[in-house]
Amino acid sequence: MHLILFGSPGAGKGTQAKILSAKLGIPHISTGDILRNAVNEKTPLGIKAQKIMSSGNLVSDDIMIGIIKDTLVGPECRKGFILDGFPRTLTQARAFDEMLNELNLMDKILLISLRTNEEEIIVRLTNRRACSNCQEIFIYNDIKELEVCPNCGAVKSFYLRNDDKEEVIRNRFRIFETVTLPILEHYEKMGKVISIDGFQAIEKVTEDILNNLKGKSGKNITISA
Ligand code: AMP
Repeated sequence: MHLILFGSPGAGKGTQAKILSAKLGIPHISTGDILRNAVNEKTPLGIKAQKIMSSGNLVSDDIMIGIIKDTLVGPECRKGFILDGFPRTLTQARAFDEMLNELNLMDKILLISLRTNEEEIIVRLTNRRACSNCQEIFIYNDIKELEVCPNCGAVKSFYLRNDDKEEVIRNRFRIFETVTLPILEHYEKMGKVISIDGFQAIEKVTEDILNNLKGKSGKNITISA
């Protein structure tokens, strides 16, 4: 299965990608996580990306296309992948289409679009906290009394990501609407879009995605419990 998870900032792409990755046995590739790891490790890419990311702007198409090209040819992507955060511009989508054609995957790719609403997203995102050690995302209310990250055990590691601050989120929304949303039309024209209500409970969103995938792929898909 070859999937793009598409949606505005905070639509739940990362959450659904992780669940689907476990259920379908294919890797979750988050360009945001790749960049954040590079920032943490202070690699040349990370140093370049840090300022851009904390203002909510987009890293250059060339860099992102290069990262995805390197990733998709890796052995872990042989059975499929779930892309989260890429493509994010029409230029990235066109370069991605070329990669898919070269890899004979164009007829396999599907885009899952999580529909959302800006005001509810603002509340959702400003209530998120990340662990500075493992990058796991938590709801503030769930961890506000914890000293230790339940995922990796790091102490006092919770923080509000710069790109989850309200003014930054609003900027990310403007960029999403102007630069990223046209991608939806691009893949709609090819009949590759599955549209899902992203404001349902997490389990219901997953259920809707899996039911749609079963229908759309026209064959049995293997799902782990
Ligand atoms: P995300 O975790 O997907 O919301 O990504 C966090 C930040 O990383 C974004 O706000 C961008 O600055 C950057 N980023 C992630 N993916 C891309 C991409 N495909 N193109 C450009 N910038 C990206």
